[in-house]
Amino acid sequence: MDSPGALHTDEPHGDNLGQRLNRLRAGVLGANDGIVSVAAVVVGVAAATTDLGAIITAGSAALVGGAVSMALGEYVSVSSQRDTERALIAKEQRELAEMPDEELDELTALYRQRGLSPATARRVAEELTAHDALAAHLEVELHIDQEDLVSPWQAALSSAVSFTIGALLPMLAIVLVPASARIAVTVIAVLVALAGTGTLAARLGGAPKLRAATRLIVGGALALAATWLIGMLLGTAGVV
Ligand SMILES: [Zn+2]
Repeated sequence: MDSPGALHTDEPHGDNLGQRLNRLRAGVLGANDGIVSVAAVVVGVAAATTDLGAIITAGSAALVGGAVSMALGEYVSVSSQRDTERALIAKEQRELAEMPDEELDELTALYRQRGLSPATARRVAEELTAHDALAAHLEVELHIDQEDLVSPWQAALSSAVSFTIGALLPMLAIVLVPASARIAVTVIAVLVALAGTGTLAARLGGAPKLRAATRLIVGGALALAATWLIGMLLGTAGVV
């Protein structure tokens, strides 16, 4: 029977695939951050000085600082999401212990909303309650899968790693290319990479690809132009 109240993707495989795509997309966006922020720093410093040591120092600091900041942000966000989910789970446990009859009615009503007949909904609710009442309520009522909660540490680590992978591109470009072509090659490499990651992220999210890639390229180009200009001004003024 088709469920008319299909508010969420209740099909377990579809759900997992969606979550995996979301994680992959978050990784691509993390790499974007790494590319843009470290490229902006190394291009800015390279505009001010040809001293490779200074460029590498600034780029490494930007890489480490950015990766830590991304990890911290992700840790905080996933932790607070988990706290919310934990609180909901505790509340549900309490309700199940204190008013099992109301909870059984509630589960029955939720299954009726999904298109089951009153008798079938009641039976499903009773059998699921006998099997694992908490899991049944979490799934149908709150859409939480206790087995599938992302760990904050895992989320923090994966965002730090994706930022670092992205950051390595401008770092390598600026270090490996001779001074005369350093900035030009890095800018081109960054814009090409952003076109690629923008397209990929849009594809994973089912969004229009050209628009996403264009947005990223324009944003990245603006960031690089801004720090290049600052580097030029400070370099010319003799600050560096
Ligand atoms: Zn409930």
